[in-house]
Amino acid sequence: MTDTEPPTGRSAVVTGGNKGIGLAIVEHLLAAGHRVASLSRGGDAPAGALGIACDVTDAAQIEAAFKEAEAAHGPVEILVANSGITKDTLILRMNDAEFDQVIDVNLKGAFRVAKRASRSMIRKRWGRIIFTGSVVGLYGSPGQVNYAASKAALIGMARSLTREIGGRGVTANVVAPGFIETDMTAVLPDDVVAGYKAAIPAGRLGLTHEVAATVAFLVGENAGYISGAVIPVDGGLGMGH
Ligand code: NDP
Repeated sequence: MTDTEPPTGRSAVVTGGNKGIGLAIVEHLLAAGHRVASLSRGGDAPAGALGIACDVTDAAQIEAAFKEAEAAHGPVEILVANSGITKDTLILRMNDAEFDQVIDVNLKGAFRVAKRASRSMIRKRWGRIIFTGSVVGLYGSPGQVNYAASKAALIGMARSLTREIGGRGVTANVVAPGFIETDMTAVLPDDVVAGYKAAIPAGRLGLTHEVAATVAFLVGENAGYISGAVIPVDGGLGMGH
């Protein structure tokens, strides 16, 4: 039997929804009929979404942002923790600040919003939490000790959440993109991109909508039995890992 989305959609929060992969996710969720709040430091959002200025490293800003989102859209039922940064350098040059900043946004930011969102999900006995991970969380990547560690840790978080609150109708999954055409990869030198393309079985970088379509499926009514999973969207680079 197939469930259908509620007629008014669900209340969704996407962090980093103003550009790149997050923007495509917001657009897919809007198209599916959800009521979407997009959190980013600038607070800009595409038409149809509620843009809220929020730095995910600040718990007070997250609390205020969720209050605003819930006043407009009702208790949060869908969370996509997608904000992420890189501070790449080889380990011998990586200082504590570069490690800490990446962990603070990518991992602790995801923890903070998941903690806030799970409150209403547990009460409602329905919820979908998606973390935007990365192929490098399991594959590894030179120069990205901080970033890969932050993304690998999201898997432990999703699986622990699954065990903690899976019985309350809440799923938690990691979508692990490979190399996707966004501002984050636009800064890579041409020879590095050529090297990636040679290693990716699909022979190309991915597109933001390819990640967003996967997220849109995982937050839908029919994905209620998928939890604690790592779903790669990487052109085969990680071979399912
Ligand atoms: P972008 O650089 O285009 O977008 C990053 C997003 O994160 C922006 O919306 C940015 O908003 C937001 N963000 C950064 N810092 C903060 C903060 N402190 N508080 C709130 N929001 C913040 O990157 P992508 O779209 O490429 O990346 C999106 C996610 O996908 C990231 O988690 C990234 O690690 C992951 N990913 C990307 C891949 C790729 O190839 N592009 C591959 C694998 C994973 P603002 O700066 O306005 O605050």
